[in-house]
Amino acid sequence: MKSLSLCWKDGKTGALTTSWDDGGVADRQLVTILNKHGLKGTWNLCSGRLGMEQGHSGWDNLIGAEEVRQLYSGHEVACHSVTHPSLAMMPDSHIFSEVIEDRRRLESLTGYPVKGMALPFGASDQRVMAVLRQCGILYARGVAPKRDFQLPVDFLNWQPTCHFKDQLERTWDEFVRIKFDMPKLFYLWGHSWEFDRDQDWDSIEKFCVIAGTDGEIWHATNYQIYEYITAWYNLITTIEKTVLYNPSSVKLWFRMDGAVNCIEPGQLVQLGT
Ligand SMILES: [Zn+2]
Repeated sequence: MKSLSLCWKDGKTGALTTSWDDGGVADRQLVTILNKHGLKGTWNLCSGRLGMEQGHSGWDNLIGAEEVRQLYSGHEVACHSVTHPSLAMMPDSHIFSEVIEDRRRLESLTGYPVKGMALPFGASDQRVMAVLRQCGILYARGVAPKRDFQLPVDFLNWQPTCHFKDQLERTWDEFVRIKFDMPKLFYLWGHSWEFDRDQDWDSIEKFCVIAGTDGEIWHATNYQIYEYITAWYNLITTIEKTVLYNPSSVKLWFRMDGAVNCIEPGQLVQLGT
């Protein structure tokens, strides 16, 4: 029987996805830096707070609704609830309205289906996850650093590798050096307003230079990671793995007996014996 394992896009061995919460005005500078170095972000917005200018902290000074489509173009916009409550402390019906209304408003701003979210304060449990499913949410990020590079087991309980202020340099070095049979994933999260607060823009720019020039890394939004892995799990093969069929809309790369191959969406491939 042949050995078959997944590779990331273009046969790459690692992927980096980043996730930024709250929609602070410092997102403008962070988007510019990510764009300059080819990194991708998922930007988690509270639609009920957009345009607020209440204070001097980044948390209270947010981008306007009219900026959303243009600013995050080429990245992904995802939910962070309408008003940022701790969902695990709320009745089911409130969780539902906080998430579905956020989806609806963000979809009208972006013009595409909004499919994921970051949980306010990372608060979730089985009951919250059940409501998220009803809202059509496909993946939800928490705030508990995993410190490993495995693919998520449950996308509604998707924990990041680390926060950008939490030993990022050391963790990235470890990620680059480690060898896996499966593709490895680095999931970075944070808030852009923290760079303003701590006058720390140099550190993220330095990281983006390193990650952006690494040819073994696929830069993807959260949804692209979700879509790619889900397509892989749905790949259909014969028992002997001599015939593969890709029923998804995603081109997949894989390693078979040491060589990297790819399979187009809807393609059936005979691999021989
Ligand atoms: Zn938040």
